[in-house]
Formats: sequence, C-alpha cells, structure tokens
Amino acid sequence: MNDKSRPPPLPPARGDAAVPSRSLTDIEVALCRDLLRFDADTAHNLDHIRALLPDDLDAVIADFYAHLASFRAFDRWLADEATLARLKRAQRAYLASLGAMHDMADYADGRARIGAAHEAVGLDPRWYLVGVEVFFEEMAKRLLTRPELDKARTGRLLISLSKALWFDALLAIEAYHHSSVSQLEALVEQLRAAESRLREMSRIDDLTQVLNRHYLMEALNIEFARSVRYGHPFTVLFADLDRFKGINDTFGHGAGDSVLQHTAETLKRHTRLVDVVGRYGGEEFVIGLVQTDASSARVIAERIRVALAESILHHAGQRIPLSVSIGVTTLGPATPDLTALINAADGALYRAKALGRDRVWFADGALGA
Ligand code: GH3
Ligand code: MG
Ligand code: MG
Repeated sequence: MNDKSRPPPLPPARGDAAVPSRSLTDIEVALCRDLLRFDADTAHNLDHIRALLPDDLDAVIADFYAHLASFRAFDRWLADEATLARLKRAQRAYLASLGAMHDMADYADGRARIGAAHEAVGLDPRWYLVGVEVFFEEMAKRLLTRPELDKARTGRLLISLSKALWFDALLAIEAYHHSSVSQLEALVEQLRAAESRLREMSRIDDLTQVLNRHYLMEALNIEFARSVRYGHPFTVLFADLDRFKGINDTFGHGAGDSVLQHTAETLKRHTRLVDVVGRYGGEEFVIGLVQTDASSARVIAERIRVALAESILHHAGQRIPLSVSIGVTTLGPATPDLTALINAADGALYRAKALGRDRVWFADGALGA
C-alpha cells in the first residue's frame, strides 16, 4: 500500500479558487486529533486496516454506492455513470490514505479539500455524514467476518476506524462551514458595494451632479460642527442665478437645464475637493468653503461670479445672458447653528438681488463687493 497516495484531483470549490479549503490552524487540527485520542496505536491499527483493504475494497465500494443509489436523494450525483465512476475512484484513493497521517498538515488539507469538493457539487453536509456512517458499517461488516482476526483485535480496529472517519468528517464539515462563510462574506461584500453605489447615486443631484439638498445639508452640518470644534474658519456662499425664469422662458427648459449644469461645473471648478457644493433647490446652490475665512471667500465668490458672467453659452445662435448673485456669511463666535448661517447667507443674497444682481454680498455688509 502506498501511504503517499492522495485523493485524486477533485472539482475546485465554488467561488475563489485562491480561498484555501481549510481554515483550522495546524494547532487546532492537532487538538482535534488529540481529543479523539488519535495516537500511535490508532495509527498502527489504521496501517493494519489499509493492509487488509485490497481484499474487500471492490465489494465495500460497490455496496456503499449501491445503498446510496437506492435513495432518490442521491440521484443528482449517482445517476450519471461517469460521475459515479469518478466518485468511486476518489473513494478508493481516499481509503488508500485513510489515517495515513505522516504529515498532519498535508493530511488535513487533503481532507478539507474533500469536504470543499462535496460542498462544491451541492451535497448537503447531512448526506455527507450519512455517507460516513454507511461507509463505516460496510467496512465493519467485512472486518467482523475476517477469520484471522480475534474479537479483541477486531474491536480495536473498529475503534480506530471510527476515529479516522470522525477525524476526516470533522475536517470535511469544517471545510463546508468555511466555504459557506467565504460565500457569505463575498455576498456581504457585494451587498456593501451595491449599497454604496446606491448611496452614491442618491447623494447626487441627477441634473447637476453636485450633492442633492439632503446630502448638502448633511455635509454642511458635518463641516459646521468640525469648524466649531477645531475653531477653523468656515464660510457659506448662497448662489442664485439671476432672472433664470427669463432664461427658461426665452430659450426653453432644455437650455435652462444646460445653464444649471454649466453653473454646477463652474462652482466645482472654482472650489476645492474638500469644499461642499450642492444644489439647494431650483437655480440655487450652496457652497461650504472649508477652512476659509471671509477675505479668501470673497476672492472665491468673486471668481465664481465673474466666471459665470463671462460664460459664453449659446442657444439657437443666441447668447444666453448669465449672471449670479451670491450671499456670503462666515461662521462667527455667536453663530448658533447651520440654519442661522444659511439664513444669514440667504439674507445677504436677498440684498445682492435688491442692489441690482450680478454681485457678491456679505451678511455683515462690510466686505460686500
Ligand atoms: P431672480 O433673479 O430674482 O433669482 O429671478 P429668477 O427668475 O432666477 O427666480 P425665480 O425664483 O422667479 O425663478 C426660478 C426659476 O427656476 C423658476 C423655475 O421654473 C426654474 N427652475 C427650477 N428648477 C429648474 C430646473 O431643474 N430646470 C430648469 N430649466 N428650470 C428650473
Ligand atoms: Mg431662486
Ligand atoms: Mg434666481
């Protein structure tokens, strides 16, 4: 008997082939072995069983599969001749190495691969365990009728056989479990990715591709709280396109939409990635300038205003007149909350409109352009 024989190559486990079948460490495998009292005596008895095997091997395998094949539950695996032949070959190789644990880690890997292969072909673990028991019985029947073995010897052989089958089943079932957990983990990962894609989709305003109102407020709240906590300057711009209704009326809604897209792009171009840019509603945008004081904000707001005023957008051969009014307010020691900050910016915007539009106005009026 060649102790080095290994089970033949089995179908790869479902999923990532790089995922090893075994998750138990060598120490854990050794613990299982020792708990089962898989000692030198056991190993010796199993050597004996393997030596006796060739006489009974064909009958054991034939009876084992004949029994299982009489149940419809196994049709899926046993009805097909080619599959059955392959299973029988695998079973032979399995038996040839039963309990031959010269290299424990190697042995455990092989047994785990067997479990993973059965899991991969969709065999329920309870049928796997049933198979182990039926197999034990087929083997036991043969050993019990051996004339050269006395009762005591047969008993010891059967106990060792039972230990080897339990040990193998334990590793196989653990591989089943490991494979299921890996599949669940992969599924959770896919769900997470889908969730984050959905979240991303619902964060963004469809038309302008900046944050929608809900997430704009959430992001502004976060930056507001962070700025208060660390004492950083924080400035809010409230931008509203001038006479936008007139643009829609003159050039059509489609042209109005293009203007909104162009405006959002301009806002993004003139702010940093860390800044918060969102569509507050219709043709109104709010920008949170992180770590930006009033004088820097004025430069940025002015650049935005000029960029929009100088935009050359045409519709049906006609230039679309474009300008924006921007209200600005900076976080101060007395600002109670984000709503107050936005209201102040809105108030400044109202002033900018009242003063003739196409201008930047600060809430306190002092820095108005
Ligand atoms: P003001 O200078 O005082 O801000 O005047 P305005 O015309 O810009 O302001 P008003 O609030 O009267 O009009 C805003 C218009 O924006 C009215 C609405 O039809 C239009 N609008 C809102 N959302 C959209 C949109 O998604 N696409 C288009 N094309 N127009 C929109
Ligand atoms: Mg408006
Ligand atoms: Mg407007």
